[in-house]
Amino acid sequence: MKFNTKAIHGGQQDIDPAYGSVMSPIYQTSTFSQKTPGSHKGFEYSRSGNPTRSALEKSIASIENGKHGLAFASGLAAIDAIIKTLKPGDEVISTNDLYGGTYRLFNTIYKDFGIKFHFIGMQSMDTIESYITKNTKLIWAETPTNPMMNVVDIEAISKIAKKHKVLLAVDNTFATAYLQRPLDFGADIVMHSATKYLGGHSDVISGSIVVNDDKLAEQLYFIQNASGGIAGPMDSFLVLRGIKTLHLRMQRHSENGRAVAEYLQNHPKVENVYWPGLKDHPNHDIAKKQMKDFGGMVSFTTKGNSYKEAIKFVENIKVFTLAESLGGVESLAGHPASMTHASIPKEEREKIGVVDSLIRLSVGIEDKEDLLEDLKQALG
Ligand SMILES: *Cc1c(COP(=O)(O)O)cnc(C)c1O
Repeated sequence: MKFNTKAIHGGQQDIDPAYGSVMSPIYQTSTFSQKTPGSHKGFEYSRSGNPTRSALEKSIASIENGKHGLAFASGLAAIDAIIKTLKPGDEVISTNDLYGGTYRLFNTIYKDFGIKFHFIGMQSMDTIESYITKNTKLIWAETPTNPMMNVVDIEAISKIAKKHKVLLAVDNTFATAYLQRPLDFGADIVMHSATKYLGGHSDVISGSIVVNDDKLAEQLYFIQNASGGIAGPMDSFLVLRGIKTLHLRMQRHSENGRAVAEYLQNHPKVENVYWPGLKDHPNHDIAKKQMKDFGGMVSFTTKGNSYKEAIKFVENIKVFTLAESLGGVESLAGHPASMTHASIPKEEREKIGVVDSLIRLSVGIEDKEDLLEDLKQALG
């Protein structure tokens, strides 16, 4: 099957042997009856496994071209399960420009558990390689990054990872499997905040992991069941329903993303526009190589870099909504310095470009004329 067909049917054959319902039923149950101890129809307790979650797990594995999918209560619960495969003393090399919550999880909780994190820029392969020690177990890459929209070369990093027998995990939340499939470029683990584009309607918190390796899948499944950060049946249903229109939405997000990026680039008050589809984006060539299109996430700064003006902008938008999160059908705007990245110290965040005037847009799938008009009045 090709991608669009997989988004709708991937892993969904024989989904309801009971009545043949076309959509996966929501098995809102904690437990399943057994004829005699151990004799059941494949499910015994919904933390260990649930048919609706299982339908979602097969769907995400299918769209990511992977063998095994796992669905979690949130993106962070998925990341948490991946880091639990490590031991005290292990080292992780991570993108320095990454989702604030991921940074917080690494740099507070797991740092105290004795895992060492190196946060670095991932543009130079030599730099990445120079951080690898005998204790390095994992490279954590986010691409495009949040909120600076840097693109890292997944295939090049995967070569280094393989050479040193280190696992490569890619947070694919911004691009989604529609725009890029990290496993095809040699990554070992692909992770999503399904809360964003996979769910696509800003109505669910969920996370997922896809891997090819059987042993790694078994280890992650053990952690998922043992630690319990699972996706519930209703949430699994919502993400599964979202995935069925992923390709259509991503196509329009990318179209509108381009319109917004080009509009901002020509606006007299705008200083910098960060969108990997722009020819002058520093990683445009890598983006073109590994992504089908460039998505709907656009960040920009204004001339003078005024904190106050940035706040005024997000107060004045009307079609865009000021809110955390991204990836829904509706357009959102955020001010990373005071919102998503407030947990990163000012000097740290400014080093990676999260300055006071930076605005991050999640461009939705409304009519682009209305979006541009809104940006015009709010910038005015
Ligand atoms: C939102 C997000 C996460 C965390 O996911 P939750 O579902 O909020 O727990 C991780 N990575 C990226 C890139 C995100 O945007």
